[in-house]
Amino acid sequence: MNDMYATFVRHALAPLDAFRQGSDHYSILKDLRESQYAAPEKLQEMALAKLNRTVRYAFEHCPFYKRSFAVAGYNPSDILDEESFRQLPTLSKRDIQENLADLRSDEYSDDDLIANQTGGSTGEPLKFYLDKPRAISRLAATLRHDEWAGYRPGDKVGLLWGAAQDFADDTSLKVRLRNKLLDRTLTLNAVSMSTGVMTDYYQKLCEFQPRVLLAYAHTVYVFAEFIRAQGLKAPSPDSIITSAELLSDEERKVIEEVFDTEVFDRYGCREVSIIASECESHDGLHVNAENIYLEILKGDRPAKIGETGEIVLTDLENRGMPLIRYRIADSAEAMDNSQICDCKRTLPRIKITGGRVNEFLVTADGRLVAGTALTIFLSTKIPGVAQMQLYQKEAGELTVRVVASDSGIDEAALLEESRSFLGENMRISVSYQEYIPREKSGKYRFSISEVASEYIGK
Ligand SMILES: [Zn+2]
Repeated sequence: MNDMYATFVRHALAPLDAFRQGSDHYSILKDLRESQYAAPEKLQEMALAKLNRTVRYAFEHCPFYKRSFAVAGYNPSDILDEESFRQLPTLSKRDIQENLADLRSDEYSDDDLIANQTGGSTGEPLKFYLDKPRAISRLAATLRHDEWAGYRPGDKVGLLWGAAQDFADDTSLKVRLRNKLLDRTLTLNAVSMSTGVMTDYYQKLCEFQPRVLLAYAHTVYVFAEFIRAQGLKAPSPDSIITSAELLSDEERKVIEEVFDTEVFDRYGCREVSIIASECESHDGLHVNAENIYLEILKGDRPAKIGETGEIVLTDLENRGMPLIRYRIADSAEAMDNSQICDCKRTLPRIKITGGRVNEFLVTADGRLVAGTALTIFLSTKIPGVAQMQLYQKEAGELTVRVVASDSGIDEAALLEESRSFLGENMRISVSYQEYIPREKSGKYRFSISEVASEYIGK
């Protein structure tokens, strides 16, 4: 698509705007474009240097870390390697909720920090702070990963997104003007995807013709199925970046077919922004390793290649409120990083398989089964399922929430198929619902377990 205006924004308006705001994200972006091809040893060395700097700073300036690292025997003259870093305690969401003030650096006042919060997957929002340079380096890193999917500043972007707090207040003229001239984004709120809403979004996207569509993974799949069922011709952006919800292989295939484009999956969170994303080789997700130190743990040890473990994150750049060994409650599979990706980028890769830790189901004999995969399997195998969600309160037990179509479903078959995954002694009940709501964040959850976090990584 020849978009002259995009070129004008890229080379004139956007750099001018960055200059006016005193933001150096374009120069950071330039460095990131280089470091993504650095020798693996060099990347490793840089990560360890940043890790030591972050830990030392947190120990000296944040009362919470001063206490907890001292208990772990840390001394600021220590030089940590990967193994000694693992001796430091992890940080849970509850730790953040209960120690917010003590996690902040004593060098930063309220005016120096940007307050932010997550939607909270199970209700309670999580508050945290960013220092201003971190907001800029987050933007630079996001742009670097956007580029892998073919995006360039100035390109038109469609946003099919659910979290309301991600939307700028677009009521002011200034914001609307800025969006029209500079950001060129069409925002479509994905919280409710009824037929009427989807028809409206379809028309808007056809008219706007974004170069890139950034979307909740499962939501854009639902939208693709709608377009196909209606026999419509889908708009075809150069790429679709999926995020926030787990993307199954089946859903990816449908999205790519219907929109006749390439899907780039991404993993990020509000606390640390972009964590990892796919390149054009689509073989795992490259970690944003200059900004994030990512561990995949099985108990206290790193997961071996092919093993799924719990993700633990350290933000290497946010001094205002350092997050060190933060347990985000997501899981990933460790990949063989001695193999360089076909794209030649040396940033380590991970595989996102199960999604959130609390999507796993615990069987009667303590096995973990990927609940999301089971939901997808059941809804394709059992005719008449309009919506489905698995809910587990305790190990060995499961409630299958089902919205059935008018023809109803074969409950005996549903139970039998479920038991083939979960074992004969699993206690399973079916609960019929009118409608299964999304979370407040707009994300759709296929599977929720109240107990999985006690079993994962063990
Ligand atoms: Zn690659």
